[in-house]
This record gives sequence, C-alpha cells and structure tokens, in this order.
Amino acid sequence: MNKIESTAVNLLKKHDLFDYPVDLPKLVQSLDIKMIPHEFDDDVSGMLIIDDNQVTLGYNVRDGKERKRFTIAHELGHYVLHGNKNKLFLDKKSVYFRNNINSANKKQEIEANRFAAAILMPTELLVKHIEQKIDFYDSLEEEEAIEKIAFEFKVSKISMTYRLVNLGMIEKNF
Ligand SMILES: [Zn+2]
Repeated sequence: MNKIESTAVNLLKKHDLFDYPVDLPKLVQSLDIKMIPHEFDDDVSGMLIIDDNQVTLGYNVRDGKERKRFTIAHELGHYVLHGNKNKLFLDKKSVYFRNNINSANKKQEIEANRFAAAILMPTELLVKHIEQKIDFYDSLEEEEAIEKIAFEFKVSKISMTYRLVNLGMIEKNF
C-alpha cells in the first residue's frame, strides 16, 4: 500500500470509522475541524484555513452531495498531507481538470485527490463489498454495476470508475 493510501486507512481506523459509506462528518468532528457550508461562486468547490487554534473547512452548498463529500475528503487530504506547509487552500473546480497551475500546487492537488479517493473508497472495503455481492454485480452491465457500487460508498459514478480503473479492477473505458 502506498503512503497516501495507508495514511487514509490509518486515519479512519484511528477514529474507529473504517466502514462504508465513510462517515465524513464524524471524522471531521473527531479531528476538531470546523465545517462550514458556504455559498461560494460556482467555480469554487472548497477551502481549508489552518489557523493557530482552529482549522476551518468550507464546501460549496450549491454542489451535489457526492461532490460535497469529495471536496470535504480532498480538503482533509490537504490538512493531513500538507497542513504543515501551507495554511490556506482554495480549491477551484478548474484545478481538477486544468494543467495551468504551477507544479508544486499540482503535486499537492493530485495528492489531495488521491487521498480523497483512498478515504472514500478504501481498497479493502471496496474489495470486500464487491466480493460479497459478486453474483449480483456480475449479473449487471458494467456501467450499472459501477453506479450501484458508487451508491453504496456515496461517491459519484465517475469517482468510482476512476478508482476501479486505478485499482486494476476494471478496464479503462473512457
Ligand atoms: Zn486542493
């Protein structure tokens, strides 16, 4: 297991939350982070502010619920992985898709996304879930199976698709 994957899993286990769908509000609470829903502009997904005494995580209320969960998990990634270096993270949606950000930021954004995937869809839990219902999922078209697995983990279908591809569990089909 790589470092980001093990960091995410250890964090869940430490707070007794290694189950799916991952209880993000409870994790945020356990970490003593203040979570604030905010009406950001449409291109902003979330932000994280690390003060001396308080960590504040904001997410965009206008986003869909899976998107909000991914944002919260992404900001947690910044907190856990990069919180000792930077104190302010503002995440614009374009950051996820564009390449026009400097390389130091880009590395952090990729790492935060990897952390988000790892904490929302821990490999062990994903494999266990699929194995338990393998006959059912085998009976479905792949697209439909991915949608149902995504629903179980409360993530978007596209997040689950990327995850399953990255874990080598399905072929790349996009
Ligand atoms: Zn970010």
